[in-house]
Amino acid sequence: MSNEKFPCDKCGLCCRNLDKSPVYEDLHDGSGICNHLDTETNLCTIYDRRPGKCNIIASYKHFEDTLKFDEYIELNINACKKLKEDY
Ligand code: SF4
Ligand code: SF4
Repeated sequence: MSNEKFPCDKCGLCCRNLDKSPVYEDLHDGSGICNHLDTETNLCTIYDRRPGKCNIIASYKHFEDTLKFDEYIELNINACKKLKEDY
């Protein structure tokens, strides 16, 4: 599974909407924008040491008892689409 890729276009919207989930409250100051996001490039400044909860593939371990991998990926892709529709 570690070789799986998620189709991310690096839009940065997930890292700008952390206030939509309490899971990420330690990463922002209330604005929803991650303290570690480069707002010019939309890239994570700590990508190689980002929290596990920011790694979609690695986070599947928390869902593998209830979701097939493809279903989990589809849910995440749909979440990305929803963010893009809202902006
Ligand atoms: S919202 Fe989705 S496509 Fe955009 S950066 Fe986040 S994971 Fe990638
Ligand atoms: S740590 Fe990096 S990947 Fe995680 S929310 Fe912040 S900017 Fe995004």
